Amino acid sequence: MKKVLYGAAVALGLVVLLSLFGERPYSRTEFMFDTVITIKAPDKGAVSACFDEIARLENLLSVYVSGSEVSKINDAPCGEEVKVSEETYNLLKKAKEYKKLTSGAFDITLKPVTDLWNIQGGGYVPTESELETALLKTGDLILSDETRTVKKPKPHMAIDLGGIAKGYAGDRVREILKEHGVKDALCDLGGNIVAVGRNGRNKWKIGLQHPQKIRGTAFGEIEAEDKSVVTSGGYERYFEKDGKTYHHITDPKTGKNPENGVFSVTVISDSCTEADALSTACFVLGKDASLEIAQNFGAEVVFFTDIGIFYTEGTEIEIY
Ligand code: AMP
Ligand code: MG
Repeated sequence: MKKVLYGAAVALGLVVLLSLFGERPYSRTEFMFDTVITIKAPDKGAVSACFDEIARLENLLSVYVSGSEVSKINDAPCGEEVKVSEETYNLLKKAKEYKKLTSGAFDITLKPVTDLWNIQGGGYVPTESELETALLKTGDLILSDETRTVKKPKPHMAIDLGGIAKGYAGDRVREILKEHGVKDALCDLGGNIVAVGRNGRNKWKIGLQHPQKIRGTAFGEIEAEDKSVVTSGGYERYFEKDGKTYHHITDPKTGKNPENGVFSVTVISDSCTEADALSTACFVLGKDASLEIAQNFGAEVVFFTDIGIFYTEGTEIEIY
């Protein structure tokens, strides 16, 4: 890990620097998956197919869509086997694997805890005993490869794929663009950037949102070609109470926001699914504990922390 520049602090995001393509690409923006999604590519039909796919995945994986496979799991009584599609099953398996590989930092079963904090509904600061009770409802889903079913071992267990589903959607978008013969495109799924091919003769430049400055202010940029660049940050969703800010990323050990001085984490990887899970996990684990895990994944990571900006060796980054 190399220390690079200034120390400072606060929340983050991702700004895509746009001035790009040689020819003007078609661009479309929609609010889906509870976030703003923009896809720019030279083929309008391909972009349309990508949005159809994102809509399909939202109906499959979103916790906010009643009748989605995730909602079916959440609505099922404890111990009942819920049959799911191969796609959902595989993603749940991956999520479980990421939990193991990140020492429990990435955990899709935190929903009872995040429901308590109620960020979507304006926010609530739970008591210690409320948190303790909610944490008892977290754990591991029981997955059966033979029957492709999912079972909750505890009453009131519930899952939320908010830390990984947009990443999976990013990988599917890349595949669809390739199927349509699109060589170069830039997709932003709410801070999950998929850089397909190049921007003319150059690599894509992905701006990194400064956590303490207004949206659109970058603290640096990443050069990317056929990579996913995914950021997790406390500035994305939060509420304030009694002068304190509470955001949407939860430490599974405490049920609270991690207190490790991290304001944002950006992960660069071939897989958007992996980068999504890993960025959330690294945000929880903090800079030092994340390093070995990121190396095991073969991913590059950029941390914006209260003591400076740090990144893994070999990251193609320019700090402004
Ligand atoms: P991201 O923006 O990808 O870091 O994901 C944050 C979202 O994932 C939150 O809005 C929650 O829905 C969920 N989440 C929060 N904390 C965790 C965690 N430790 N592991 C997995 N998902 C989480
Ligand atoms: Mg994530």
